[in-house]
Amino acid sequence: MIELRYEKPVDRVGAIDLHGGRGTARYLGGGTNLIDLMREEIEQPSLVVDVAGLSNEIEARDDGSILIGAGIRNTAVAEHRAVRSRFPLLARAILAGASAQIRNMATVGGNILQRTRCYYFYDSASRCNKRIPGSGCDAIDGFNRIHAILGASPSCVATHPSDMCVALVALDAIVHLQGMSGVRTIPLMDLHRLPEGHPEIETVLEPGELIAAIELPALPFARRSTYRKVRDRASYAFALVSVAAALDIEAGIVREARIGLGGVATKPWRAKAAEQALVGKKATAASFMAAAEAELADAAPLSGNGFKVELAKRTLALTLGELAGDPA
Ligand code: SF4
Repeated sequence: MIELRYEKPVDRVGAIDLHGGRGTARYLGGGTNLIDLMREEIEQPSLVVDVAGLSNEIEARDDGSILIGAGIRNTAVAEHRAVRSRFPLLARAILAGASAQIRNMATVGGNILQRTRCYYFYDSASRCNKRIPGSGCDAIDGFNRIHAILGASPSCVATHPSDMCVALVALDAIVHLQGMSGVRTIPLMDLHRLPEGHPEIETVLEPGELIAAIELPALPFARRSTYRKVRDRASYAFALVSVAAALDIEAGIVREARIGLGGVATKPWRAKAAEQALVGKKATAASFMAAAEAELADAAPLSGNGFKVELAKRTLALTLGELAGDPA
């Protein structure tokens, strides 16, 4: 029996005080990942601070931006009228992410901080640097069909599992943080770390720091945006490849593009090389495939996931083509 204390504070300051930056304390959102991890004894906190009831507002501002409280359930975000009209790629990413039951429980903050679904991470009989630093990684020479082809290191090749984060990274979302030393904001793109030599350190959060909200800056052309997810089965599964994309096209020329990739990288992946390759180019199928080639040029597949390179290119080119009205 593992002793566990559960606390439900009335505000964020109380939550941060209770947590106190202790390594054995965890914030609890909807519990759709943390409870699984506790059942498997991958996570063994002595204190759980329930923050799901805090930060529950969505503020659609007149300037086109939206502020989303971190305690909001995923369903509420996906169904919000302003989210659906201003940032359809985000609503679609959330709807593609999980069943209605999971979406009704999962919170925005918890979704962002969910942990990898690498099989070996969940199997305590396997070597896993993320679970036990320095122990090795059984995925690298093992069954690695679902693992990363971008952003990996010799220490860890696990993918980040969130669909929502792929849309958020494409939208230049800003994370509002609150901790023991005050409040700060950082780009979502900088929140998750690459594994490098320390895959056990997944974010730049300070001990006890809490995600308070996510801000989506105004992006008028995001009304022309979408999310496409390729997975092993039509019912809910994690992505093999996913693409969040928005295109600004005028007179057949791409003025700006925003692209995120999921299922292929160790963190929510902003496809900067593809974006840069598209600016000023004709919105044609050839341009879209050239952009996809540029993004995947540094892909490093493992023994079992080489198919992801071509799958990612084709999925990205197809998604951009759809947004552009399927040009030749
Ligand atoms: Fe662990 Fe990462 Fe290796 Fe999976 S890929 S076994 S999470 S170190």
